Amino acid sequence: MEIDCLFCRIVAGQIPATVVRETDTTLAFRDISPQAVVHVLVIPKEHYADVATLTQADPALAGDVLGTAAVVAETEGLLADGFRLIFNTGSFGGQEVFHAHAHVLGGEPLGPMRA
Ligand code: 5GP
Repeated sequence: MEIDCLFCRIVAGQIPATVVRETDTTLAFRDISPQAVVHVLVIPKEHYADVATLTQADPALAGDVLGTAAVVAETEGLLADGFRLIFNTGSFGGQEVFHAHAHVLGGEPLGPMRA
């Protein structure tokens, strides 16, 4: 755990979150500022700064994050109409919280990605 990391503190139960799914290795919770009808964040419980670092260090754990994201998409009812899965990475990618996380977005048409 990184003491100064917001998402590590959520994993530790020090900051409240609306958890929608938890596994041994991952946690999924609702984004505090949703950008779509459904907006869930999926994180590895172990701290990695971003998805690239995570995937290089522990590909199986990265797979766990994807697996949890897929289950969340199903339980949130997103599979029929589709959804968006995003890993913002680094400053150009718009990453603000430097604990690897997937955004699961859906529940409405999301429009084209900005170039
Ligand atoms: P990023 O820009 O790093 O990809 O996304 C970080 C996300 O974390 C943002 O969508 C933001 O709304 C969300 N977020 C920031 N602080 C909190 C918090 O305290 N609780 C929850 N549930 N989400 C947060």
